[in-house]
Amino acid sequence: MFDHIAQSVPYQHIQLPNSLLLDIKRLDLIHPQISGNKFFKLKYNLLAAKQQALSGVLTFGGAYSNHIAATAYAAHLFGLKSIGIIRGEELADKPLNPTLAKAQSLGMHLHFVSRSKYRLRDDANYLQQLHQQFPETFIIPEGGTNELAVQGCQEILSQSDLEQYDVICCAVGTGGTISGLIERSSADQEVLGFSALKGDFLPQEIRHWTKKQNWSLTDAYCCGGYAKTSPELLAFIENFEEQHALPLEPIYTGKMMFGLFDLIKNNYFSKGTRILAIHSGGLQADIRNKSHQ
Ligand SMILES: *Cc1c(COP(=O)(O)O)cnc(C)c1O
Repeated sequence: MFDHIAQSVPYQHIQLPNSLLLDIKRLDLIHPQISGNKFFKLKYNLLAAKQQALSGVLTFGGAYSNHIAATAYAAHLFGLKSIGIIRGEELADKPLNPTLAKAQSLGMHLHFVSRSKYRLRDDANYLQQLHQQFPETFIIPEGGTNELAVQGCQEILSQSDLEQYDVICCAVGTGGTISGLIERSSADQEVLGFSALKGDFLPQEIRHWTKKQNWSLTDAYCCGGYAKTSPELLAFIENFEEQHALPLEPIYTGKMMFGLFDLIKNNYFSKGTRILAIHSGGLQADIRNKSHQ
């Protein structure tokens, strides 16, 4: 199921008013509900679960998590069970939001835990406990970033992407996707990450996954934090969507494009630079029409 995906991703050319070239790699078109990058992050995790003859995967996320939605879907396709440890005990008694309803309809077992419990998601003792409670499951961390995810994200870039572009841009959450892109990039390319959140911890995280140095990261366009927005960001997205017939959302891809266009405006790129921006998807969790805190 995965192997043909990477080859079939379309590109969209964006006309710029100067001599720069900008193409968008539309991973969002891989699936209407699943963030495209999450497929790549999950690939080797699901294969590992199968190879170890486990019956399912277990992972963690908030109520709107793209990773939860993607895991439910991909596990379903793979014939694996899935368990989602969801932040917020109080949600157990409420109607499920569209993300969780979809995950459950795909067979995901939702297990709601308190915020303090959820904080233990990387704690060895807690993981051991979960292992006993849900045996035969392969545990994937929150956001899906681990070594296997970084390996999978390398496959986002094709051989010709390494030759056709000078700069590769992506949205950054936990840093797994950008780490895979960096690992795969050629030495004369620059990988530019736009953080969706205040990312003081992120450079160290990325250096954990890759030793290469041809990358940089900015959180100047995160609007103060994860899922936070600003009137400027929302106006940019609306205008961009109208002008280019390309959907964005305000958590990840909107911030990336907002930042990228600001850099372009401020002459960050030298003349003739060829830019590839990765559209990682995420449209299932578009918060603009929902009450979301
Ligand atoms: C999860 C996600 C990201 C961030 O990926 P990381 O590997 O966590 O950095 C970017 N864009 C979208 C749409 C996502 O769903």
